[in-house]
Amino acid sequence: MSNEATEKVELLIIGSGPAGYTAAIYAARAGLKPVLYQGIQPGGQLTITTEVENYPGYADGVQGPEMMVHFEKQAARMGADIRYGLATKVDFSQQPYKVEIDEESWIETNAVIICTGASAKWLGLPSEQRLNGFGVSACAVCDGFFFKGKEVAIVGAGDTAAEEALYLSKLCTNVHMIVRRDAMRASKVMQERVLATPNIKVYWNSETDEILGENKTNGVRIHNTKTGEKTEVPISGFFVAIGHQPNSDIFKGFIDMDETGYINTIPGTSKTNLEGVFAAGDVQDKTYRQAVTAAGSGCMAALDAERYLATKGH
Ligand code: NDP
Repeated sequence: MSNEATEKVELLIIGSGPAGYTAAIYAARAGLKPVLYQGIQPGGQLTITTEVENYPGYADGVQGPEMMVHFEKQAARMGADIRYGLATKVDFSQQPYKVEIDEESWIETNAVIICTGASAKWLGLPSEQRLNGFGVSACAVCDGFFFKGKEVAIVGAGDTAAEEALYLSKLCTNVHMIVRRDAMRASKVMQERVLATPNIKVYWNSETDEILGENKTNGVRIHNTKTGEKTEVPISGFFVAIGHQPNSDIFKGFIDMDETGYINTIPGTSKTNLEGVFAAGDVQDKTYRQAVTAAGSGCMAALDAERYLATKGH
């Protein structure tokens, strides 16, 4: 299909999590008439969480999906043009940049803010899917509090799993850490902390067969890959911490990324290697990954885009 653009806009925002909507709020207020495409999961990862208690301003907490409705309404009220649709391809080889929407039409834009987020990796078990939100979570910082004083399990052995296991160990009675090899990938210092924590029990060479429970999680069945021994552990929460995948595939070849696909931004800014292309939120952040940090970086991206467009005389 030819990439003849059918529409020209000043600023295109791709993605509708906290980063995308915050960028839209700021850009709309600055008079940039941003067009935002929501992507495959309008509202982003927060729409698959339950209660959010750590977003400042919600004194009594808020449901994740409800909070994202608030973000969207606020962006719309400021005048952002919010559209349902998916960016399926980009052509950043020359300016103005071009973005294909829904494999159907092309939009030309003077600046782009990429806020496509990241997706948690899952084990792929049917029970994990069935109990998602009912004891199964991919974010200990978001959901750990709901398991205060209870037993939980966590699967994974990288820095995220180690960090989350330590976080959970402060809230929960016991943390059962399921590690698929006989070694952890996490940095040495994190491993040492995990192993020195009395209420974290590590199950080496272990894989998860099934998360147990009808309507809510009440156990996990694992097996040892060396001995074949099966073990059932009673738990209330099951945390998956086996990594995230940034949603950056369509930008490959145009935008600098690290080896795992996270977009590189110039430290302290939202600027990518291409002038006029900015990135915010989880697609460029593998460390913090919080709604509030994503929103903050969305604000930065809108301000960077505004300054860029002003210097270009747009
Ligand atoms: P990683 O890719 O580093 O680790 C993923 C872990 O999950 C590995 O231990 C891996 O096992 C395990 N795993 C993957 N698939 C499965 C599966 N199907 N079943 C069971 N286990 C599985 O991801 P992280 O999110 O931990 O970290 C990502 C990056 O972010 C890293 O570079 C990390 O150092 C960094 N980070 C830094 C932090 C900090 O500095 N404070 C905090 C958090 C992350 P295996 O080892 O066998 O492959």
